[in-house]
Amino acid sequence: MFEEGLKKESILEELKRRLGADLSYDSGVILGSMCTKPHPLANRVFIDHMEKNLFDPGLYPETQKLEIEVVKMMGSLLSNPCASGHIVSGGTEGNLTALWAARDLSGKSEVIIPASAHISLRRASHLLGLKSITVRLNESFQVDTREVEKRVNSNTAAIVGTAGTTELGVVDPIKELSHIAVDHSVYLHIDAAFGGFVLPFLSELGFEAPMFDFRLPGVRSIVVDPHKMGLAPIPAGGILFRNSTLVETISEMIPYLAGGEAEHSTVTGTRSGASVIAVWAVLKHLGRKGYRALVKRCMELTKRLAEGIQQINGLELMVKPTMNIVGIKSDDVDILSIARGLRVRGWAISLFPRHIRIVVMPHTEGNHLETFLEDLKKATSQNR
Ligand code: PLP
Repeated sequence: MFEEGLKKESILEELKRRLGADLSYDSGVILGSMCTKPHPLANRVFIDHMEKNLFDPGLYPETQKLEIEVVKMMGSLLSNPCASGHIVSGGTEGNLTALWAARDLSGKSEVIIPASAHISLRRASHLLGLKSITVRLNESFQVDTREVEKRVNSNTAAIVGTAGTTELGVVDPIKELSHIAVDHSVYLHIDAAFGGFVLPFLSELGFEAPMFDFRLPGVRSIVVDPHKMGLAPIPAGGILFRNSTLVETISEMIPYLAGGEAEHSTVTGTRSGASVIAVWAVLKHLGRKGYRALVKRCMELTKRLAEGIQQINGLELMVKPTMNIVGIKSDDVDILSIARGLRVRGWAISLFPRHIRIVVMPHTEGNHLETFLEDLKKATSQNR
C-alpha cells in the first residue's frame, strides 16, 4: 500500500494497460467456459445496486422481495413455482447448501455422487464431514443407477444426480434416481447448474430433453446458475428447494443486524443484493421466449460444430450432444497434443483426460466456429 493514493486517471490507465491481455468473450476464442457475456440490462442494474447486502435484509426489504420473486420464477422454470431458496455465489455454494440441508435433515453421514459430478460436490461432502461414495458411469456417461441403488444404505444422507455434466453436458437418469430416492426415503439433489437454463427449452424446440426437475417426486433440491446460461453477471448461482420446510433445516435467526433480526440459510454472510436484482431484471426482460431463442441459437451452432468435427479425419464425438456442450476425442491422435495445438493458436478450450470440451455459449458466433474447425483440422493432422 502506498501512503498517498494515486490519481483516478492513473489507476484507470494502469488497469487498461495491465488487463489488456485478459481474454474477452467478444473475441470468440473462449470456447471452454460455461460463463458468458452478461446481458447489458443485467450489468446496468448490477452497477446501480452494488451497495446492497442481503445479509441484512431489513435494510433492503424490497430487494428481498425481488429474491423471493426470482426464486419463484426459476422455480416455475423447473416446474415448481412454490420453490424456496436463494441466489448464491455460484453452483459450488449451491451444491454445498443442498448437501448441508440433506445432512441436517437426515442426520446421516454418506452421500452418493456420480463419477461425473462437479468437483464441488466432493469438496462440499468433505467440508460437511460426509463420506462421498463415488458411483461409476455407464457407457453413455450417465451414472449407473443399479450401482446407485446398491450403494444406498441406512447411512445415506443424499443421492446426487447431474442434469448437464461439466465434462459432456450429459443428463443422468434422474427419473430412475427419483424412484430410488422415493423407495428408500432418501434426499435427491440435482445439480443443474448448467442445464437448468437449457433443458426446460429443449423439448419446446424439438430436441430430446430428459426429465430432471421438480415434477419428479424424489427431487428435493436443484442448483441452477443464472451466471452460466442465464446471462446474469457473476456471482449468481441458484439453490432451489422443493419447499420452505427444507430451507428451515438450515435456517438460523441472526439477531444483531442493523435492519432487525432475520432468518438466514446461506453459507455466506454478506451477499450481493445486486446479483439478485440483476437476475430479476434479465429473467423479466428475456422471458421464456428470450431464453428459448438463446438456447435455439446455441443448439443450432452446436449441431454445426458437431458435424464439422465428424468430418475431420481422426476425430470423433465422445457422445451425441444433449445440450450445447461437445466432447471431441480421437483414437489415433493424442488428445493432449491436439489441445496444445489449439491453445497455441489462441483457443481457450477445456481439456479432460480423454477429450476436449467445447461449450457453445451465447457469445459464440458461427464464424468463430468455422475458424476453430479449420484450426482443429490443422492441429489434428499435424499430430497424426
Ligand atoms: N455444477 C456443475 C454441473 C458445473 O458445471 C459447475 C461449474 O462448471 C458447477 C456446479 C460449479 O459452479 P460455480 O463455478 O458457479 O461454482
